[in-house]
Amino acid sequence: MTGENCIFCKIGRDEIPCSKVYEDDKFFAFLDIKPVSKGHTLLIPKEHIVWMQESDDETISEIFKVAKKIMTAMKKGLSCELVQVSVVGKDVPHFHIHLFPRFENDEIRTHHQMVNYENGEKQEIANKISSTF
Ligand SMILES: [Zn+2]
Repeated sequence: MTGENCIFCKIGRDEIPCSKVYEDDKFFAFLDIKPVSKGHTLLIPKEHIVWMQESDDETISEIFKVAKKIMTAMKKGLSCELVQVSVVGKDVPHFHIHLFPRFENDEIRTHHQMVNYENGEKQEIANKISSTF
């Protein structure tokens, strides 16, 4: 399986600009361009894996450890009430974990809901999360 034209592979290779939240040898996290809430992050393996169940056990274990790290940083940096985690996988065919901050009375009902960032706010929020690691 090749990720030659995969948008998430390109983001992970730094070929497409994004608001980066986290990066290590194997994983990459960035702000979703269609955020359900401000700070909505996508965590991906840099390796092109389409479905979560196609990852080896080690990758699964490691990616959830990174998810935990980002969730902790989100709670600290964004002072959210909780962080919702979901793996949907129908939108972009590259395994990704959605992590989005939930705030008290935010009334989020669906994944299709979208918020908009003000000018410069996106990078500011990415920095708020990544600065607390
Ligand atoms: Zn890919």
